[in-house]
Amino acid sequence: MSTSKTLDMFPVMSTYGRFPLSLVKGKGSYVWDEEGNKYLDYTSGIATCNLGHVPDVVKEQLVEQLQQLWHCSNLYHIPKQQLLAQVLIENSCADEVFFCNSGAEANEAAIKIARKYAQTVKKNDSYEIISFTQSFHGRTMATLSATGQEKIQKGFYPLLEGFHNLPYNDLQSLDELATIKPCAVILELVQGEGGVVPADPQWVHKLSDLCQKHDILLMVDEIQTGMGRTGTLFAYEQYGIEPDVLTLAKGLGSGFPIGAMLAKSHVAKAFDPGSHGSTFGGNPLAVTAGLSTLEYMIQENIPKQALKSGEYLLENLKVLASHSDDIKKIRGKGLLLGIVVKTDALSFVQKARENNLLVLLAGPNVVRILPPLTTNKKEMDQFLSVMKDIFM
Ligand code: PLP
Repeated sequence: MSTSKTLDMFPVMSTYGRFPLSLVKGKGSYVWDEEGNKYLDYTSGIATCNLGHVPDVVKEQLVEQLQQLWHCSNLYHIPKQQLLAQVLIENSCADEVFFCNSGAEANEAAIKIARKYAQTVKKNDSYEIISFTQSFHGRTMATLSATGQEKIQKGFYPLLEGFHNLPYNDLQSLDELATIKPCAVILELVQGEGGVVPADPQWVHKLSDLCQKHDILLMVDEIQTGMGRTGTLFAYEQYGIEPDVLTLAKGLGSGFPIGAMLAKSHVAKAFDPGSHGSTFGGNPLAVTAGLSTLEYMIQENIPKQALKSGEYLLENLKVLASHSDDIKKIRGKGLLLGIVVKTDALSFVQKARENNLLVLLAGPNVVRILPPLTTNKKEMDQFLSVMKDIFM
């Protein structure tokens, strides 16, 4: 069962280059494979298990909900869905929430509401969506059309019409917004899949000002940066901007599939009955996971914990970088960190795994570190010790 050759024989489509590891159990910052080997998981299921694996507070609520109601569709009111929406809007700049099941669906909903808002509320013919080079917004046809990476789009042409990329963090090219006259821009404030690249605050401010000036919706994709990952509940708080639309998924359900598209009220009113929908979106189990995750995160100020732990890791990784011939630089925000290496990053990810530490890639030359936000000093020191062995 455990050799990679045998694992590859199962009829699961090879859409992922999977590591030869079968995981069967998780608790806190650790996961276990079929043979009982224990790994420090600094991937968090790709920025998803922000409270660690199987957090008691979420598990207890899910077990209780399992006895009550699993699914009923959005043709009926779901009390916990209303509560989760309420807590989300009380803690963000948005006014209303649409629930779905994944990040791609949340961005798909954002793209749809931007066009519907232009066509039915503003009553103009703008339909272009501007996104940025090296961005990642998902794998559906619309979200991959928005994604600024050719490798994600290759083989799926023609892309959808009306998507246009501008260079990320490039002040001058923002002036093109006035001529393109898009209905919306969508951006990540730290590009996750694209190499852990934080947005330059000056660039973000200019973008936000231009959006306001030209009546363009500012849509922030917080699918990877949200839910405390960068040291505040949402990354936009650190930039002093207020997006019109905000998308979430990953950490929102602690690993239970849920996505959300949040919008300010003037935008939200573009969606009326029949405009958009999802059978499963925000079902009783998903919103139970979301509500218990979010309430715990706020109660315990988990984003602040992430900020402090991020500072500790960043500081120590920078010291390591100054002594290592393999590391070019360290970048990121909170607990979304990237080690930019001079050669192939995959070999370092593999070496880490051989040392019972799981980390990720973000492109060919960046090792991406995504610890649970609840990780403690002992675990961080374990991680740093493996990093030292690998890079020194
Ligand atoms: N947007 C960003 C910024 C992401 O990081 C991801 C996933 O990595 C997505 C969208 C797509 O999310 P999902 O895989 O849940 O569809």
